[in-house]
This record gives sequence, C-alpha cells and structure tokens, in this order.
Amino acid sequence: ATQPYDDSNIFARILRGEIPSTKAYEDEHVLAFNDINALAPTHILVIPKGSYVSWDDFSERGSDQEIGAFVRAVGKIARDRGLVGSGYRLLANVGPDSGQEVPHLHVHIFGGKPLGPMLT
Ligand code: 5GP
Repeated sequence: ATQPYDDSNIFARILRGEIPSTKAYEDEHVLAFNDINALAPTHILVIPKGSYVSWDDFSERGSDQEIGAFVRAVGKIARDRGLVGSGYRLLANVGPDSGQEVPHLHVHIFGGKPLGPMLT
C-alpha cells in the first residue's frame, strides 16, 4: 500500500501557489510546469491537482475523469510542444527503488534532443 499523502510536499505547495513555477499547462484536473533542474531541452513535470502520492495511488484512487484528463494532458503537452515527430520520453518514479523524490505523482516529459537509452 502507498504511504499517506503529506500535503507539505513541494508540489502541493506549487499547487497552492506558495512556491512559484513556470507553468506549461493547466486545466481543471492537471497542472504542468518546467522542472527546476532540466535534464533535457524540454523537461516538464505533469501532476494531477488531486492529492495522490504516486502512480500506484492515483491508479487505485483516482477517478476515471481525473485519470482521463491526466493522460490526455500529457499527450496534449507533447503535441503542443512539437515533440511528436522527433519523439519524447515519459517517466514516472514510484517509491524508494525508483528514487522518487517528491511524494506527489508526477510524470516527467523529456524531449528536444536524442535522449539515449536512459536519462538517469
Ligand atoms: P523525482 O525524482 O521525484 O521523479 O522527480 C522530482 C523532480 O522534481 C526532479 O526532477 C526535480 O528537479 C524537480 N523539482 C524538485 N523541486 C522542485 C521545485 O521546487 N520546482 C520545480 N519546478 N521542480 C522541482
């Protein structure tokens, strides 16, 4: 089972507007912003506005509407950034073995250069 959600995490603070971020996309259910430590020319983090610790938590507790909005937003951001032709990579770290740093679900979008076999 997933740990309980801790609303002092940094992405919860970004959602509350307590910490600035460079917004890349927003709708009713989803926020996306540039990673503060970009590992590629495009490095965007996409998060649900709801309080979900990880992909595991979201896939169990998220509503079909939230999950649908999230999946569509990831695709739309990549299309709007012109990444589809050249290609891009999605990454979601889940839990300790992955090195997940922030306990609010985020999907990384990497693009804008040939990415090699792995980024980290
Ligand atoms: P994880 O390792 O959990 O998959 O990824 C966390 C990501 O959040 C890292 O790539 C890190 O650079 C990014 N990050 C951490 N703190 C902040 C912040 O305050 N603002 C933004 N925009 N990104 C952050």
